[in-house]
This record gives sequence, structure tokens and C-alpha cells, in this order.
Amino acid sequence: MITVDQALSILLDQVETLGSESVAIEQAHRRILAEDVRADMDLPPFDRARMDGYAVRSSDVRTAPVKLRVIGEIAAGAQFEHRVNAGEVVKIFTGAPVPDGADAVQKVEVTRANGHIVEILEPVTPGQFITPRASEVAAGEVVAETGREIGPAEMAVLASFGYASVRIGRRPRVAVISTGSELVEVSSKPSGAQIRNSNSYTLAAYAERAGAMADMLGIVEDTPEATRVALIRAADNHDIVITSGGVSMGDYDLVKGALKDIGAEIYFDRVIIRPGKPIVFARRGETYFFGLPGNPVSTSVTFNVFVRPAIRKMQGEASPALATVSARLSRTVKDSSSRRSYLPARLFIQEGRVMVEPLKWGGSSDFVAFMQANALIVVREDAHETAQGELVDVLLL
Ligand code: AMP
Ligand code: MG
Repeated sequence: MITVDQALSILLDQVETLGSESVAIEQAHRRILAEDVRADMDLPPFDRARMDGYAVRSSDVRTAPVKLRVIGEIAAGAQFEHRVNAGEVVKIFTGAPVPDGADAVQKVEVTRANGHIVEILEPVTPGQFITPRASEVAAGEVVAETGREIGPAEMAVLASFGYASVRIGRRPRVAVISTGSELVEVSSKPSGAQIRNSNSYTLAAYAERAGAMADMLGIVEDTPEATRVALIRAADNHDIVITSGGVSMGDYDLVKGALKDIGAEIYFDRVIIRPGKPIVFARRGETYFFGLPGNPVSTSVTFNVFVRPAIRKMQGEASPALATVSARLSRTVKDSSSRRSYLPARLFIQEGRVMVEPLKWGGSSDFVAFMQANALIVVREDAHETAQGELVDVLLL
């Protein structure tokens, strides 16, 4: 058996970033940049007024009050052709380019206008109320780097610098298979020992959220033959195949055995993790396989710990693992196991502090309680009791 960290480093080592593709900006949200985004112009593109008022020559307004001649006005979006000479000012509005000759703006509140004359009531300093050209970004500068996720703020950057299309990491195609002869479709009423297949839906949703395109390939009964056929079919046009179930002690060899039978190379099959433990990671050609345990909470946790980073890396994300934050435990956590544990939990803010509350739940089959979880508390292998108020690492779901 290997540790979570060993397993993660094996799989991040194995998984390769897929190629890139060019998409229209409208399709870029939530994708990963596969090129550095560069500014194609200065920002601001001109010396920009920060106030409504008058563009002045600071040498004219060293002392105040002083009366000066208004030679015109500039609204945002307008250009002013003339130079401002000694004794002259131009009326200006927020966002407009400061005209040549002027080197400061005085706000309208400290002026008194009278026809073509304005009295400036307070002195100015050179550069006052002006955002200089290129002070935010200079043309040619890299403003967003390869490997970054494109969120709403990145969309503004793409749009402002003329990226009508942008190169992004290809989205992995993920196939989801649920193994288990006890499983029935959502539309059926389970009888006897049957249960409805819920894992396919969870896994497809998580995969989509991680940026992949997911196909649910349905339920596979617990026979070696059916499992092999399903895996081969799934591998055909998918970058990742995720299975749930069929990796626990009793049926341990069904998924793992089928993977071996179809010629996949197994990199690991057990990890010192709770919930979880039996987790198969394998590769055949260009396709990666994740055999996750079938208990719904174990399925969700192992997806987030292992599969998500793989999906993110395939898209080229610079830091593919889930973000970790520190939070204070709202109550003491006891954990007798010597495995790394991931406890479903709820993160919240109390009196300005980030707190985390372990869920009260019925174990790895309690997917209804798991709905309350927005985070996983990471309990280290050697931690057996962590007291209320102590700082713990928390993965954000
Ligand atoms: P397994 O890992 O195959 O031993 O499955 C463990 C338990 O997880 C089973 O007894 C089921 O109760 C549950 N389970 C397995 N597959 C699914 C599924 N696709 N949807 C919901 N629950 C499942
Ligand atoms: Mg099973």
C-alpha cells in the first residue's frame, strides 16, 4: 500500500497534458489558458483624467485662487486637438484623455466657472488626478499566464486585449461506468437487495465541474466478461475511464482483473486513505483508468483527491490539486485509524474566523448527509485526536 502523497505523485507523473485548441472568447470561460495572454496596447492608452474638472498646467496653479481661460471641453471618448498653453485650461470629464500641455486636473468642486473664465480655488501638484498612460499595463506585457483558469476577471482581460479567440487546454473526455449487479436505473423502483445507481450522476457532475466532458455509459453487472467489454468500449474514445464499485475485498479482482486482462498497466491498487483504500489507477495506451470504491461518499472523496487533479492536469492547469485552506476545528476530532482521513465537513465563518465543522454522518454510504459538506478535513496519518480550536488543513470541494 502507498500513501496518498505517493499515489498523487505517481498519477501526476503519469498523466500528460492534452493538446490545446483555439476557441472563441464566448467559449473560454472556465477553461485553462494554453498561451500567455499579452497586452496589445498600453493601459490606460493615454493619460486619463480621474475626476470631473479642469485640465490645467500645474505651473499656472502653484498658488490659488487663480483665474484661467477655458478653451474647450473633452468628454470621455472624445479627442481634443489643441495644446493647452499658459493661462489656459480645458474642461474635462472622468475617463477622458488629458490634452497636451496640461499636466494636472483640478476637480470641479474647487472651481468657480463664469463664462469662458474659471477660477481655480486650490493649488494643484503636477500629475494630480491623472492616471498616466501605461501605468496599469504596458503593451507587450504578459497579463495572464499559461495554466491559469479563465474566470470572469480573466474574461475582461481577454476582451480588453482583443482576444476574440484564445488557445485553451483540450477538455478530457471522461467515461463513467458503474459496476454492480445490485444496481438499477434511476427510473426503476429497486426491489429486494437492489439500489439505484447514483454514482454515475455524481461522477459525471464532478467531472464536468472539473472541466471534462463526461459520458455516462451505464451499469455493468459483476462478471469478468461484462466488465472487460465495458472497459474496452469505454476506452475507445475517452481519455479517462472512471469506474465505481468492484474494487473492495470481496470483488477486488473484478475491475482490477479486467484491467489486467485488457492489457492495462496497473500503477497502484490500494492507498492508505479513509474513506477509500482500494483505488485502482491504470493506463492502457492513451487512456487512464480510475477504479473507485462504490460507496457513494468514498466515490466522491476519492474522485476529488485523485481524479480531479488528473482532469485538471490534462487541461494544463498549473496547480491541479484542490485548494487547501487552514481552518479551526469547531469540535474535537478523534480518528483511530492510521490512514490519511478525509472527513466531510462544513466550512463557515464565525466572528471573522474560518471554522470547520465535521459532519455528523453515518459513514461512507451516507450520501444524503454528504450534501451538507462543502469541504474535507484532512487528518494526517499520525493524528489520532485533534482538539477543538486547533488549525487543520481543509480541502475545498
Ligand atoms: P462496492 O465497492 O462495489 O463493494 O460497492 C460498495 C457499496 O456501494 C455497494 O454495496 C452499494 O451499496 C454502493 N454502490 C456501489 N455502486 C453504486 C452506485 N453506482 N450508486 C450508488 N451506490 C453504489
Ligand atoms: Mg460492487
